[in-house]
Amino acid sequence: RAALGAWLDDRFPEPVARPGRSRLLVLAGPTAVGKGTVAAQIRAEHPDIMLSVSATTRAPRPGEVEGEHYFFVDDAEFDRLIDAGELLEHATVHNKYRYGTPRGPVDAALAEGRTVLLEIDLQGARQVRAAEPSAALVFLLPPSWDELVHRLVGRGTEGDEERARRLKTARVELAAQNEFDFRVVNEDVASAAAEVAALAH
Ligand code: 5GP
Repeated sequence: RAALGAWLDDRFPEPVARPGRSRLLVLAGPTAVGKGTVAAQIRAEHPDIMLSVSATTRAPRPGEVEGEHYFFVDDAEFDRLIDAGELLEHATVHNKYRYGTPRGPVDAALAEGRTVLLEIDLQGARQVRAAEPSAALVFLLPPSWDELVHRLVGRGTEGDEERARRLKTARVELAAQNEFDFRVVNEDVASAAAEVAALAH
């Protein structure tokens, strides 16, 4: 296990399902840590877990499907969703686009007794905690800071300026990890996904 993992093991509890926690699971963590990949892996292996589909004002990337990856909306529609109370949480991420979790599908799935997974940013995680204190908050960590930088550069989807901005945000987000109930180090996707999914069962 990497040095950061060992350090964290000494300071934070191992992830175990906690009685009294609701079936609402929030997965957050810094940019490029692999939240999306881990969430996709969980969806593939645990069709019983409902992965919430967010609304966003950013444009679809090639290959992204409306209603599957996101609901792509314009600013006016996003405002309408907020005003109508249809978002469980919402935030402007990386100072740019707005993202939010539609409340209806989450409530419906929880009412059916299903586990719901939200893959959202730190601001959103805090709002969910405030709205639903029984939610389980999971923080996904990189094995090390260098590895995080490496993953962000390797992904190649951001220019220099955007990358610098995201790394600055990542430092702030990493500092908030002790607000979370569990932390999972993403050494490899399969193990991280298994650890997160174990919290849901
Ligand atoms: P991307 O544009 O790369 O798909 O996502 C950018 C960031 O937005 C990620 O950190 C992701 O976790 C966050 N995000 C996606 N959906 C939501 C949401 O519904 N609410 C909040 N607060 N953040 C979200």
